[in-house]
Amino acid sequence: MTTHLLEVDGASKAFGGVIANKDISIKVPEGKIIGLIGPNGSGKTTLFNSIVGSHPIDAGSVRFQGQEISQMLVPEIARLGMLRTFQQTRIYGKMTCIQNMLISMPHRNTTVTHMFGKFSAPDHEKVERLLEFVGLYSKRTLLAGDLSFGQQKLLEFAMALMNDPKLLLLDEPTAGINPTLINGLIDRLKKANAEFGVTLLVIEHNMRVIMNLAEHIYCLAHGEMLAEGIPTEIQNDQRVIEAYLGAH
Ligand code: ADP
Ligand code: MG
Repeated sequence: MTTHLLEVDGASKAFGGVIANKDISIKVPEGKIIGLIGPNGSGKTTLFNSIVGSHPIDAGSVRFQGQEISQMLVPEIARLGMLRTFQQTRIYGKMTCIQNMLISMPHRNTTVTHMFGKFSAPDHEKVERLLEFVGLYSKRTLLAGDLSFGQQKLLEFAMALMNDPKLLLLDEPTAGINPTLINGLIDRLKKANAEFGVTLLVIEHNMRVIMNLAEHIYCLAHGEMLAEGIPTEIQNDQRVIEAYLGAH
C-alpha cells in the first residue's frame, strides 16, 4: 500500500471575491517528487500557503502523515517535518552562508546576538556537509547577499535541508536562475530525494524542468484542478497546452 505523506482533500480558499483555490485535491506519496504547474495566478502559491499553515483554508482538509493539520500554524507544521521555500528567497544578505545555515534550525530559536555560541561541532559539520552538497562550500564564508540569485536559491535549499524535512515544498526553485545553474539544481533536488529520502512537492513554471523532475504532475488553472497525470500525459493534454498558451 502506498503511504501518502500529504493528502489535500477538497481545499478551497477565497480572498474577498477572488476564489484562489476551489475544491483542490492532491496526494503526495512518501519518497516521491510531485509537480504542481499552472499559469501565473492559477493558485499554486495559495495552495502552498494553505498546506504549510500560512493561512487557513475555507473548506476541505489537509492531512500530513494522516494527521489533520489545516488549522495548525507554520511552526507547528514545520516541527512535524514539513517546510517550504519561497518564490523570492528569504536569506539574510548581511550574514555569511554558514551563519544563514546555523540560524535556519528553528529549535535553536533565540536572539541572533546570543546564538552563535550555542552550536555544537555536529551542527557545524552538518553545515559544511550540506554546503558541499549544494556546491557552495567554497563560498561558505561569503555574505549571502554577495551570492548570485541562483546560488542564493541553492543556499535556501541547503538551509531547508538543515532541518531534515520529511516533505519539502519548493515554490518555483528555478525561477530567475541562470540556465547553466538549472540542471545542477535539478540534479541536487533529485539527489536529496534519493539520498536523504526527502519527499518533494515542486511548483514549477518551466515545463522542461518539471517533466524532467516529477513523476506525477498536477495542473491548476483559474484556481481549479485542470489535469493530473504522469509527465507525458500532462505534456500531451490539450487542456494543459491551451491553458499555457492562454487559449480558452
Ligand atoms: P500562482 O502562484 O499560481 O501564480 P497565486 O496563488 O499567487 O497564483 O494567486 C492566485 C490568485 O489569488 C491571484 O488572483 C492572486 O491575486 C490571489 N491572491 C493570492 N494571495 C492573495 C492574498 N494574500 N490576498 C488577496 N489575493 C490573493
Ligand atoms: Mg506563485
